[in-house]
Amino acid sequence: MEQIPSNTRDHFQRSGILFVISAPSGAGKTTLCTALRQKPDFVYSVSCTTRLPRPGEIEGEDYYFLSQEEFEKKITEDAFLEYAKVHGHCYGTLKKPVTEQLQRGIDVLIDIDTHGAGAIRANQDPIIQHALADVFIMPPDLEELRRRLERRGTESAAEVELRLTNAAREMECWRDYRYTIISGSMEENIEKFRAVMRAERYQSRRFSLVPKFSTSH
Ligand code: 5GP
Repeated sequence: MEQIPSNTRDHFQRSGILFVISAPSGAGKTTLCTALRQKPDFVYSVSCTTRLPRPGEIEGEDYYFLSQEEFEKKITEDAFLEYAKVHGHCYGTLKKPVTEQLQRGIDVLIDIDTHGAGAIRANQDPIIQHALADVFIMPPDLEELRRRLERRGTESAAEVELRLTNAAREMECWRDYRYTIISGSMEENIEKFRAVMRAERYQSRRFSLVPKFSTSH
C-alpha cells in the first residue's frame, strides 16, 4: 500500500488501480506492455490461454499456456475474473492474484480484449469497480494493421484475416473506455499511457486517511 507522509498524526493510503488495456491485434499493445513492464510500479496480470506459445514467449511471464481441459477446469473452479474466446482461442484473467494485489494497494495492469473489458466493467465486486481505469489503444488504419501482422509473421493468412475482421469490430468499442489513446509512435504511446497512470494515481477518491499510530487503551 503506497503511504504518503502527512504532517498530521494521520497518513494517506492509496487503493490499488486496475489498469485495463485493450487494442486490436497489431496496434502495438504487446510492445507497449513490454515497455511499461520495464518500470515495474505495477503488477502485470499474466493471463491463461489455450493458444500455443509464439517463439520467445515464456510460460508464466507472457501467459500460462493451458490445454482446453485445464482451461475448462479453471472455469468450473470459478478461478477467472473474466474469460473470453478471442481469435478462436480461450483467454482468461485469474481472479485471485488481481483482487489480492488491489486489496494490498498495488496497481495491476491487464491486457484483454474488448469482451473481457466489458465483463470487467459489468463486474459487481466493489473492489473491481473502484479500481477500474480502462484504456483503449486506437490503432492506425486497417491497412497498416494488416502490414504489421504480415510483417510479424506469427499468424497464418487465415488467422491474419480473422484478426483484421475482429480489429474492425473492436475499433467500434473505443467509446466504452474511460481513455482512448490514438496510437502514434511507441514512445508517444508509452508517454500517453504513463500520463494516464499518473493522473489516475492522484485521484482523491483513491485515498483514505488512516491513523498513523494504533492506540491501545
Ligand atoms: P494474443 O494471442 O495476440 O497474445 O492476444 C490476442 C487477444 O487476446 C488480445 O486482444 C489480448 O488483449 C486478448 N487477451 C489476452 N489475455 C486475455 C484475457 O485474459 N482475457 C481476455 N478476454 N482477452 C485476453
